[in-house]
Amino acid sequence: MALALARTDEASLYIDGRWVATPRAVEVRHKWTGKLLGRVGLAEREHVEAAVAAAQRAARRPLDAYRRYVILRDAARMIEEQAEAFARLIAQEGGKPLKDARAEVERGIQTLTLSAEEAKRLHGETVPLDAAPGGAGRVGVALRVPVGVVAAIAPFNFPLNLVLHKVGPALAAGNAVVLKPATATPLTAVRLCEIFERAGLPAGFLNLVVGPGDPIGDWLVESPAVRLVTFTGSPAVGRRIQARAGLKKVVLELGNNSANIVHADADLPRAAELLARKAYGSAGQFCVSVQRIYVHRDVAGRFADLMAEAAARLKVGDPEDPETDVGPLISEAEARRVEAWIEEAVAGGARVLCGGRRTGALVEPTLLAGVRPDMKVVCQEVFGPVASIVPYDDFDEAVRLVNDSPYGLQAGVFTRDLALAWKAALEIECGGVIINDTSSFRADLMPYGGVKESGVGREGPRYAVEEMTEVRMVVFNLS
Ligand code: NAP
Repeated sequence: MALALARTDEASLYIDGRWVATPRAVEVRHKWTGKLLGRVGLAEREHVEAAVAAAQRAARRPLDAYRRYVILRDAARMIEEQAEAFARLIAQEGGKPLKDARAEVERGIQTLTLSAEEAKRLHGETVPLDAAPGGAGRVGVALRVPVGVVAAIAPFNFPLNLVLHKVGPALAAGNAVVLKPATATPLTAVRLCEIFERAGLPAGFLNLVVGPGDPIGDWLVESPAVRLVTFTGSPAVGRRIQARAGLKKVVLELGNNSANIVHADADLPRAAELLARKAYGSAGQFCVSVQRIYVHRDVAGRFADLMAEAAARLKVGDPEDPETDVGPLISEAEARRVEAWIEEAVAGGARVLCGGRRTGALVEPTLLAGVRPDMKVVCQEVFGPVASIVPYDDFDEAVRLVNDSPYGLQAGVFTRDLALAWKAALEIECGGVIINDTSSFRADLMPYGGVKESGVGREGPRYAVEEMTEVRMVVFNLS
């Protein structure tokens, strides 16, 4: 099928190494000013099919590992050269405060650099077949081979780094990718495709389709040529993907109502400062954002004062102001939902220790006390700048409260007691337990992912490469 080619200044998709025009476009607006930032092509079914077919063709003519390394390394360098432009774009299309957007770009460069390094480390192993009855005279080699076509579906909240956590390892492992970014933040993905094109990635290895998850995500997930779906987003969409993917491999990075324990022996001012930054930074719109804070009853009052003071020091407003700590939510509708959850908690007896109000898409950093476990602000993922303090009497109770959640991504524990820290590490049901820092800590090289409703599989380039490859057993009969 011949797709219409686009001029480079036109709304377009990136398919088989070409910029392709589409009949319809998605308008992307500045999340603070409302100004039109750009238009990106809206994919029709034929574009999704063409993107998958191009990826399938590319995956059948794999690149050498060293070439993959060079392309990924060069792409990382090019992002570094354009770091400020990327940060501005993330702040504009995502409403993320510039300081967080700059940090995201730094992390994205790390993610891509780590992925480049992984391209050189794809090892298999020999299998001692002669150690099995009937295996004498045979040599076994377990190879790690790419899965083939990877569908990468990404959320709005880290439009660069979370896209790179999928695209980087997928390419490093020798796969070809069809990327569907969030419809709210596709411009960063467009810029990224331009970078990979300039870095010399041959046609078909990275394809971009843009448009609503339903139906575009569904078409991708159901496509028989796609061998692995890597998804980051909400649990509801994750469940739908799992149900529709059939026998494909699926990696799901989903939500969390992140818990943190502050024990009586903790450094309270430090814990309060860190927890406030990670409850309210990026307006609480990240999967390990601090939400539930279990504080030992002896220090709960003092901690609440310290955290409310730390929250009051945060600057709320225009994401492009380099001083801003807390910007708008992704949409006013989302801010209204968060406001309604706060109101519901207050109507049920919760007290607002700070914040609590909404203006447009902005929600003030909000700290609640007197909450109950069945309130939405506690038992569901707020995905907004709202945290709650709950007192506990003994450490076992705190661990039970942390585990009383459908989610299990990461949790934070503040204590100076090594035995309690180790107990928490063993007993908390999460993909990550962070001692003396918040649930939000992430270094891009570490294995990252959840248990329970927080997902399946791990990201972090080394671990994602494992997910995105298969073992192929080769047996030589030498007898
Ligand atoms: P979302 O609504 O689930 O969307 C994520 C992506 O899925 C978007 O590209 C979306 O497209 C697409 N999608 C929607 N319906 C789909 C379908 N039926 N089939 C396939 N794809 C579909 O999530 P979000 O609001 O962007 O992000 C917030 C969520 O992501 C939170 O729950 C957060 O905790 C989670 N998250 C998790 C991690 C992690 O690593 N565990 C990291 C960041 C965020 P549209 O944009 O067109 O709707």
